[in-house]
Amino acid sequence: MKHNSFDIVVIGGGHAGVEAALIADHYELSVLLVTMDPKAVGRMSCNPAIGGLAKGQIVREIDVLGGLMAGLADKAGLQFKTLNKKKGRAVWSPRAQIDKRHYEKLVLKTLDVSNVVVVAGEVVSLVYDRAAIGGVVLRDQTRIRCKSVIVTAGTFLSGVIHIGERKIYAGRMGEERSEGLTEHLVSMGFTTGRLKTGTPPRLSKNTIDWDKMNLALGDENPTPFSYSTDNFSPPNEPCFTTNSNSLSHDVIQDNLEKSPMFSGEINGIGPRYCPSIEDKIHRFPDRDSHVLFLEPEWKNSDQIYLNGFSTSLPEDVQLKSLRQVSGLERVEFFRPGYAIEYDFFPPSQLKTTLESKNVSGLFFAGQMNGTSGYEEAAAQGLIAGINASLNIKSKESLVLTRDCSYIGVMIDDLITKDTLEPYRMFTSRAEHRLLLRCSNTVDRLFERANLCGSIDEKSKETFSVIINEKRKLIEGLARSIKPAEISVKRPPRQSSPAKDILKRNEVSIRDLPKKFTRIEGSLPTWIRDEALYDVESEIKYEGYIKRSLREIRSIKRSNEVLLANDLDYSQLKGLSSEAVEKLSKIRPENMGQAMRISGVKASDVSVLMVNLKRS
Ligand code: FAD
Repeated sequence: MKHNSFDIVVIGGGHAGVEAALIADHYELSVLLVTMDPKAVGRMSCNPAIGGLAKGQIVREIDVLGGLMAGLADKAGLQFKTLNKKKGRAVWSPRAQIDKRHYEKLVLKTLDVSNVVVVAGEVVSLVYDRAAIGGVVLRDQTRIRCKSVIVTAGTFLSGVIHIGERKIYAGRMGEERSEGLTEHLVSMGFTTGRLKTGTPPRLSKNTIDWDKMNLALGDENPTPFSYSTDNFSPPNEPCFTTNSNSLSHDVIQDNLEKSPMFSGEINGIGPRYCPSIEDKIHRFPDRDSHVLFLEPEWKNSDQIYLNGFSTSLPEDVQLKSLRQVSGLERVEFFRPGYAIEYDFFPPSQLKTTLESKNVSGLFFAGQMNGTSGYEEAAAQGLIAGINASLNIKSKESLVLTRDCSYIGVMIDDLITKDTLEPYRMFTSRAEHRLLLRCSNTVDRLFERANLCGSIDEKSKETFSVIINEKRKLIEGLARSIKPAEISVKRPPRQSSPAKDILKRNEVSIRDLPKKFTRIEGSLPTWIRDEALYDVESEIKYEGYIKRSLREIRSIKRSNEVLLANDLDYSQLKGLSSEAVEKLSKIRPENMGQAMRISGVKASDVSVLMVNLKRS
């Protein structure tokens, strides 16, 4: 390392760290990325997939804000699928199986061609003076000066891996953990907690009886994540499913006390929404089967990821249980499943920009903020990187609100709610999800990205064309169609606005004459298709969208709606049991507070509203 002074130092090269470093580089600042193992940058610690319910929306948002993940996922994808297609358009979510090795290589290559300086090292303390950050100190006592620090330490802070009674002190299997940084941050006045997450075993491909598995392919006409992706024709590598059964459950049930989760060895709280197999069997004893997904970890991979079987049971119990499952009678492991406990920093200590409330120039992002997932981590890294850069340039910060993005929902949740378990994004966390469609990400975020300067000229051009063309399409739909111009089941008797005909259930925008669907400018076919489909959604759901916009205005007033201190939440029909428990315990003074309590979902808030109106 030639210099010991940088504008920004990023600690950690996971999904949060690389997004933070590369966006700061985009702002032409000098950036140092310190990471324990530079060969492991962008590593996918667990599942070989990116996107999924609500997470796919986050990946799109990352793309429109100038981030990396979407474009790389398109290049490293093995199979693409839009989830939730049977449900409303608001919750359609893209997901891709990813070649983990290829993804890591692409991250490395991107860093190589950037100006980011990457060094191997472990940060053990920070330099700060009068509540402002001044630099970092590495374990070998190297001191580096900087104007801003972004900490993205993931699961590495005092990490402990559990496999049955075995404990391994590590940040992730095969990687050193970070020691001392937690204590240093605590000495600076930060509070910390302990969380836990887990991963399933990796199976040897040749020991699986594939004929007994059910085939699961991706979409025939897949859609990419990134608006920079053109000529998209990814592979459609097969995945497979099988089911656990009562025999495999019995093995787990008989050995529950050997799981560190049940023996009391693990104190950290795990993700309720992504439970281990032992937790599922314990919590849902009536279910005699759970779906297991077999996913390749890379192209032609001999190593198979067993999605749905995250566990910290001893290796022999994992193996014995799995050998009861159809197709896995001869299975062998490359690696057993394990759980990991790590330190996190409750994100209520941060501002909406992800900067610390108490130490200026210090940002936290990713899993150490109590989240779980690559997408959540990458999004926070990007926002922290943008805001650290804007700070240094004395420009206005980027703040995303709940009504413009899933990222805004996540950050608002993180900083206003207690983090009692790893936070994972779901569509149900977004009360305005009809406005947060995957297909209107550009409409929602382009102006903000443009204002804060986080995107390049080419993206600006593409996004401007998309927005203009959609506006023209919507305006054009006010024009009338003559009955002779359209062939639909119930032809209109007289000339009617195209918009009114499109509102009918059985009519799609493709049924309209070409003059209503013409899109100018050079856009990839998939973006044209998406623009048409999104305009169709805008028209068909116009009423609901208007209602959502009214709700946004009323939610702003919701802090004025008082909730009685003696309200008996258990008597309100339709509230989830989690909401009853949390509301009864916290007793919010008003609706605004109630809405922001972790575990009270949008549907619970609606129930509260209805009951308040009634009473
Ligand atoms: P990480 O990817 O953990 O990266 C942290 C980086 O910080 C590393 O590069 C590390 O070297 C570096 N670092 C740490 N401390 C220091 C220091 N002091 N000095 C220098 N560098 C440092 N996500 C899912 O979506 N689904 C899952 O099922 C899932 N299961 C998981 C299971 C396990 C066992 C693990 C380990 C993770 C799992 N995750 C899962 C979480 C997912 O891996 C993370 O959410 C995501 O990788 C977090 O990204 P990050 O950038 O915050 O941190």
